[in-house]
Amino acid sequence: MFKKLKEYDVSNKRVFLRLDLNVPVKEGKIKDDSRITAALPTIRYLLERNARVVAASHLGRPKNGPAPEFSLAPVAKRLAELLPGTDVVFAGDVVGDDAFSKASALKEGELLLLENLRFETGETKGDEELAAKIRKFGDVYVTDAFGAVHRAHASVFQAPKLFDVVLAGFLIEKEIQYLKENLEKPERPYFALLGGAKVSDKIPILKSLVEKVDGIAIAGGMAYTFLYARGEKVGRSILETEMVGTATAIMKRAAERGIPFLLPVDHVIASSMEDPVPTESAKIDDNSSAFDIGPKTIALFAAEIKKAKTIVWNGPMGVFEKEQFRKGTVEIAKAVADTGAVKIVGGGDSVSAIKVAGVENRITHISTGGGASLELIAGDKLPGVEILYEKGQ
Ligand code: ADP
Ligand code: MG
Repeated sequence: MFKKLKEYDVSNKRVFLRLDLNVPVKEGKIKDDSRITAALPTIRYLLERNARVVAASHLGRPKNGPAPEFSLAPVAKRLAELLPGTDVVFAGDVVGDDAFSKASALKEGELLLLENLRFETGETKGDEELAAKIRKFGDVYVTDAFGAVHRAHASVFQAPKLFDVVLAGFLIEKEIQYLKENLEKPERPYFALLGGAKVSDKIPILKSLVEKVDGIAIAGGMAYTFLYARGEKVGRSILETEMVGTATAIMKRAAERGIPFLLPVDHVIASSMEDPVPTESAKIDDNSSAFDIGPKTIALFAAEIKKAKTIVWNGPMGVFEKEQFRKGTVEIAKAVADTGAVKIVGGGDSVSAIKVAGVENRITHISTGGGASLELIAGDKLPGVEILYEKGQ
């Protein structure tokens, strides 16, 4: 098992805190601070116990060391606003003189935010020397950087190896609880709902889920590669011809296992995404694309959803960003929300879709990680999670 934040007395300790504060920043302005607010419970918990906290995160993908557009300075400013009464200090480097002098001057209940971890090129390379320097910032390693646990980066994987005490923050605790512990022994029937744009993005999760679940429904853009593989006409719908073999193999596995494998049986089609008069149709003509699932498909999927005790959902059912093509996603979101099952939703657009449908309060767990969520749901071993288990023994 892994050790949770509350299972160790962090009072007055020097803590290195790995966070995911990778927010969108444009011209020094933060466009969406939800990753910062999501980290607050763990930060507050530590500060309330008078820990001296050295926090660190990556932001964007700087390639060759420091680059001002990837600075965490705006994040430090926002953190200070969100933590009134707390001294938030910002370091101009990661493991340089400024960081270490500010870290040693840190008082109890104060927070130091380091500059972007990826300004050190050793971070993404999993450099041991960088990890050894990070070790000097504290006696306790706490992580809440769920969005980064699938990377064997220095601050995620090599650094925690060097600490005696390694703890999972509140965000990661929940993510592991639902995406790993819960899905390793799911209450059955276990049903997967997959959508989104492309099959190619979702191959690992598809291959893994087809072995584990008791039923799958596929919609969204990727459904059309499956329908095409079955010999159906898909018109100008999004189609990945190079994925037809993969799609066929996945459907074959589902058939061998004898599990329901549902695809759309009707669609909302239009000649282009801008078309103001979309039509419902069981067939897709040569000049149309399917941008949403139709009413029969909604009913078909909803009937299966009703029976489930565990539901995993990734990927919208249609082009939900456009009002004309939103109904499928919204209706399915409601059907999922209405069940008493354990309901887990992951994926950036899927989370937005759940909010558009207004059911976010009725979903058991909404995962915050993109790639990390999908990999954990697929049952992959993630470096940043494995190390928590190793250290938690
Ligand atoms: P997530 O971020 O939840 O993993 P994806 O990124 O895989 O989801 O997919 C989301 C995108 O898929 C949305 O932008 C949506 O418009 C698109 N999409 C859904 N259905 C279709 C469709 N039928 N045709 C084209 N694009 C689609
Ligand atoms: Mg997406």
